[in-house]
Amino acid sequence: MHLKNSYLSEVYSIAKQKDPNKPEFLQSVLEMLTALEPVIEKHPGLCKKGVLERLIEPERFVQFRVAWVDRNGDVQVNRGYRIQFNSALGPYKGGLRFHRTVTPSVIKFLGFEQTFKNSLTGLPLGGAKGGSDFDPHGKTETEVMLFCQSFMSELFRHIGASTDVPAGDIGVGNREIGFLFGQYCRLRNISEGAMTGKGIFAGGSLLRTEATGYGLCYMAEETLQQLCGQSLAGKTLVISGSGNVAVYAIKKAQEFGARVVAASDSDGYIFDEEGIDLELLRQIKETERARISEYAVRKPSAVYTEGSEGIWSIPCHVAMPCATQNEITLEAAEMLVRNGVTALFEGSNMSCTLNAVRYLQQEGITYVPAKAANAGGVAVSGLEMSQNAGHSSWSYEKVDRILKTIMKNIFAQSYEMSAQYGSPGNLLMGANVAGFVKVSNAMRWQGVV
Ligand code: GLU
Repeated sequence: MHLKNSYLSEVYSIAKQKDPNKPEFLQSVLEMLTALEPVIEKHPGLCKKGVLERLIEPERFVQFRVAWVDRNGDVQVNRGYRIQFNSALGPYKGGLRFHRTVTPSVIKFLGFEQTFKNSLTGLPLGGAKGGSDFDPHGKTETEVMLFCQSFMSELFRHIGASTDVPAGDIGVGNREIGFLFGQYCRLRNISEGAMTGKGIFAGGSLLRTEATGYGLCYMAEETLQQLCGQSLAGKTLVISGSGNVAVYAIKKAQEFGARVVAASDSDGYIFDEEGIDLELLRQIKETERARISEYAVRKPSAVYTEGSEGIWSIPCHVAMPCATQNEITLEAAEMLVRNGVTALFEGSNMSCTLNAVRYLQQEGITYVPAKAANAGGVAVSGLEMSQNAGHSSWSYEKVDRILKTIMKNIFAQSYEMSAQYGSPGNLLMGANVAGFVKVSNAMRWQGVV
């Protein structure tokens, strides 16, 4: 991508100069600046007061040591991070990722993206992210608990219900949130909604677990209906991943009448012509915490292939990448288009490389970026915060109704911006602009802070 506007290319040079070793972060900044070109051309004043220069600089970024003792009595040392990116709209909010690929660059891109995603939800939430290079795979439950307790022994001083509210992400699910939240309450001698994704019995919200995957399908259905006069019903879908986002995307897509034929983990993927048996997948991945290859051992209609990238060679109408960043390369995008894909909705954050997105757009593929498509998770986190603040708990139906409305609003705002700035239906541009406008207005209103 090439920035024509001289001010925007200057801002990008600053980012490159300051963070030469953070490729994922630079990628997310370039995506945003490219989307903003038509806006800045039309309203150069929007970026007065150094709004963009301030936006690409996180308010705070802490890195800390996480030492713990493993099952053999050996000391292990991991790195912990929390980035508090932007608080113009509300308390910092965003998940924690535990995965061996976590680096400062990954945390920084996730925090930057989260700021605009949270803005799109329409809820008063700032942007944050955190995590560790700790790899939960193969660890005993006690090891995971000891790690989480050590991690929180530092993190607790930086967070709080009105300051910064972490949640889950890759490698951090209900179990880890429990260990983290338990340690937070102990250290602070307080029980408050300082985390979301909590157990239902401990102030969690109904539907939070399902929210990202369900929201992704609500967004897909709305987009297909509004832009193409179509529906998920009867379509063949490839959904990568087999974590929380993928599982509930598969469930909701099947409810909409789609046929989901594939799923993956970091080792490889399964293709099941008969359609994924969700109960079997959950039994293997959630209950047994085993590898996805096991699915093909137990289900005769399924074929397992080593290497997760191959999943994009399966013909489908709609692709939903729900594994991790940059899983859709240019080659994967080309394969998808060759095999007849018509739409792609990002369930994982920044699923596509910049080349892949550009190619999909050139080919006229309907595309919704993660900030808009996977915002359902953090949206229901926002609803969990409201319930905690009001000492109440809402029904499943109520949360689901609000989630649907939020996803429809995100589509509507993104579409409106895409039309206003001359590319109706370019939701990459529309979503980035809609997310940006709110944050930039709030920042200008608060003066130079
Ligand atoms: N990790 C999720 C995301 O990428 C959820 C964050 C949250 O609920 O705070 O949006």
